Amino acid sequence: MDYVDQVLTAVKEKNAYEPEFLQTITEVLNSLRPVVERRPEYRKAKILERIVEPERIVSFRVPWIDDKGEYQINRGFRVQFNSAIGPYKGGLRFHPSVNQSIMKFLGFEQIFKNSLTGLPIGGGKGGSDFDPKGKSDDEVMRFCQSFMTELYRHIGPDCDVPAGDIGVGGREIGYLYGQYKRITGQYCGVLTGKGLTYGGSLARTQATGYGVVYLANEVLAHKGKSFAGKKVIVSGSGNVAIYAAQKAAELGATVVAMCDSNGYIVDRDGVDVAAIQDIKEVRRARIKEYLDGHPNAEYHDGCHGIWSVPCDIALPCATQNEIDLDAAKSLLKNGCWMVTEGSNMPSTLEAMEAFAEAGILFVPSKAANAGGVAVSALEMSQNSLRLSWTFEEVDGRLKDIMANIYQNMSAAAEEYGKTPEDYVLGANVAAFLKVADAMLAQG
Ligand code: GLU
Repeated sequence: MDYVDQVLTAVKEKNAYEPEFLQTITEVLNSLRPVVERRPEYRKAKILERIVEPERIVSFRVPWIDDKGEYQINRGFRVQFNSAIGPYKGGLRFHPSVNQSIMKFLGFEQIFKNSLTGLPIGGGKGGSDFDPKGKSDDEVMRFCQSFMTELYRHIGPDCDVPAGDIGVGGREIGYLYGQYKRITGQYCGVLTGKGLTYGGSLARTQATGYGVVYLANEVLAHKGKSFAGKKVIVSGSGNVAIYAAQKAAELGATVVAMCDSNGYIVDRDGVDVAAIQDIKEVRRARIKEYLDGHPNAEYHDGCHGIWSVPCDIALPCATQNEIDLDAAKSLLKNGCWMVTEGSNMPSTLEAMEAFAEAGILFVPSKAANAGGVAVSALEMSQNSLRLSWTFEEVDGRLKDIMANIYQNMSAAAEEYGKTPEDYVLGANVAAFLKVADAMLAQG
């Protein structure tokens, strides 16, 4: 058993009931083998054993009163995973599936993603098993205020800066921010993803989705290819999916399918992304409504079938483990030759193996969706400077950051990987080296 296997065995024993966390640890640690072989000082300082243990996890009760006057109790979390390279940074997820395993997997991914941005931000994540779906604005506000009444004591603009994730958008960030100010009397940017009239950054809303396409485009360009004329599946219809689809279409691709948690639509003429945005963001309705006004489109119940729609490029932008082995096989069978991950860990380990065996281009989420948190860090910078940059300025910086991520992950793949296109290994190694060296330097 080598050093990596020893650490993996111990982590599996200690976290036996946390499958999502074990999944990300297995993926990352396996790709760090060539690094720890070359750098014995990491083993001596037990960097792997340390990096898999969160610096701190806070779990708290969130009581609130619904519109019927009944008490409701949810559980809140903040995982402050690693502060080696900067203050904890990462989103809050409000979704009924949220538990400690999911929080730890997301927090762990965030360490590496944030490192890849090249900006000084550590890794954290938080959230609650609260489901905003079907709740009134007043209920969401009361929940957010109660959540922040506990969270406020653990965060701050120089120590931990949360943002949005699934179930937490501009509305929730506004309520959370208002409560933070009310309690602390501090008026600085302790959250990112704020509204544009109170310290938010232009292009933050678009940043994750645009970043996914900017990075995919870098990879394509280095192969002499482009999005033009390609058929693209974009799973999901939330913030990441909408802006990934919009940017892919702008670069000449045809977005052939999108989905929500109930089902998927196929529109071979190219999905009308503005219509999806109206259904999901304005009307907060189901994607099935796309059929009204788009008679050539099809709707199918369930989400899994989206992966059997023929495509060149798949951009999974919904949630973790949305591509299992079956989905990977149908993508490959139907001609898909590139997967760029927009959601966090959308592919299971088996699906990733199938893609690697088939030798298709595969760009992992840590690299591909880092644009969101990168622009969050730019929002922090603007708040500190008491300035707001233009959309073009922020978008230009985002493009540069994604191009830099491409350079770093492909250089690491070249140096440490079996092939120069092993971007999974490249992203993990490039991100890890920076964090590990910072941990060593700080004792
Ligand atoms: N939730 C996003 C992510 O997974 C954004 C985090 C942030 O902006 O801090 O990276």
